[in-house]
Amino acid sequence: MIDLKKLEVWFITGTQDLYGEETLKQVAIHAEKVAKSLNDNSKISVSVVFKPIVKNTDEIFETLQSANTSENCIGIVTWMHTFSPAKMWIRGLNVLQKPLLHLHTQFNRDIPWDSIDMDFMNLNQSAHGDREFGFMVTRMRKDRKVVVGHWEDEEVATQIDTWCRAAAGWHDWQGAKFVRFGDNMRYVAVTDGDKVEAEMKFGFSVNTYGIGDLVAVINAVDENAIQNLLKEYEETYQIADDLKAGGARHASVYEAAKIELGLRKFLEDGNFKGFSDTFEDLHGMIQLPGIAAQRLMADGYCFAGEGDWKTAALVRACKVMGSGLAGGNAFMEDYTYHFDPANAMVLGSHMLEVDASLASGKASLEVHPLGIGGKEDPARLVFNVAGGDALNASLIDMGNRFRLLVNEVKAVEAEHDLPHLPVARVLWKPLPDMKTGCAAWIYAGGAHHTAYSQNLTTEHLADFANIAGIEYINIGAETKINQFRNELQWNEMFYK
Ligand code: MN
Repeated sequence: MIDLKKLEVWFITGTQDLYGEETLKQVAIHAEKVAKSLNDNSKISVSVVFKPIVKNTDEIFETLQSANTSENCIGIVTWMHTFSPAKMWIRGLNVLQKPLLHLHTQFNRDIPWDSIDMDFMNLNQSAHGDREFGFMVTRMRKDRKVVVGHWEDEEVATQIDTWCRAAAGWHDWQGAKFVRFGDNMRYVAVTDGDKVEAEMKFGFSVNTYGIGDLVAVINAVDENAIQNLLKEYEETYQIADDLKAGGARHASVYEAAKIELGLRKFLEDGNFKGFSDTFEDLHGMIQLPGIAAQRLMADGYCFAGEGDWKTAALVRACKVMGSGLAGGNAFMEDYTYHFDPANAMVLGSHMLEVDASLASGKASLEVHPLGIGGKEDPARLVFNVAGGDALNASLIDMGNRFRLLVNEVKAVEAEHDLPHLPVARVLWKPLPDMKTGCAAWIYAGGAHHTAYSQNLTTEHLADFANIAGIEYINIGAETKINQFRNELQWNEMFYK
């Protein structure tokens, strides 16, 4: 979907003029070697670009300023190989707009016990040079990620990549356009929010288009394109005979294909990264987009139902962050509970629109009535979703701030056929347990809509929230409800 290797993080090594030419030459050689090693590491999904070492206020300012304006630079990694007096960094850090990772490493992994002398000590000063830099960033109240360890340590590479992916999701949001067909579902609170504040804070815009604008594009779709897509449906999915060409109910599938092509064209023409619609506003559409939304999501477009632009945007960010990893990122809704005390779990689904990238095994294309919306029976893909570690994330407008809420879950394989439930579905157990997980979610004001991820960790989401400068709340294995409620109350004070 997105080639993360096209994106760059700049590797910037701080030092100073004091050391003389020989030492600075050595610093530059070492820094380039570290940058190259990170760039070549298969764990790191973006390009790591070495930048000439910076020795004074002007060089620092100019390098950080050009990072700001470089189109492909999604963030900077800083390292103080030697001592770089941090007042020199104030001017540069003051203007820095890109995410910052501070790599606290050292060129030599081990102390050379037999040969160590004062020259070695003067060259390998990260232990105190990085503390000087760290103080300045903290003193300036700037958010950043600190990663500690030797640069050849695979855990370090993984942590750097996690942050790079978060920075890539953030980069993708800058200037992103999302469409909202119609308004919010009537009277619904959590899906609504402040779009002006969101654009100021997050960099993406959400604008509305009348459903008639989309219907016009759908009605102009080319007949050959519809026939080709219908062929693709038949080759890709299990599909009943009466839904195939010539079958009694083929018209429903035909209409769904037409909707998919129209929607896709609308998104492509407008350079949109995703959309939201609502079943209350579908004038001129024959059926609600089911399979269309499912397949567009699998191709990287984001979607959330009922006008929920916040969840749609979050789904898009998750898709970018998880690009190239096994597993999917999808729009999800907590739907129904299984309260068996021995085996409590949540059944997640939506009316129709569950992302086809989550499907385990071949999906089945089916047409069934929808008890809501008053339209003709929509076509949708029905499938189960694999078990394993996953998470649900919700972006909430708290009025004075945005909150990113994450609950780690354990997805479980469906043990039963659900012959009368013709929608895609997922089963999961919230951590730390059903009662605590659900109570904490509700105390934190989490939505029923979420971005469901099979391949991101809480560290990706925490890094993302940190880059966005918003509140991050986690519900996981360690969550205790009293402590959690305290955290929410303390945060109220912090954000006042
Ligand atoms: Mn919904």
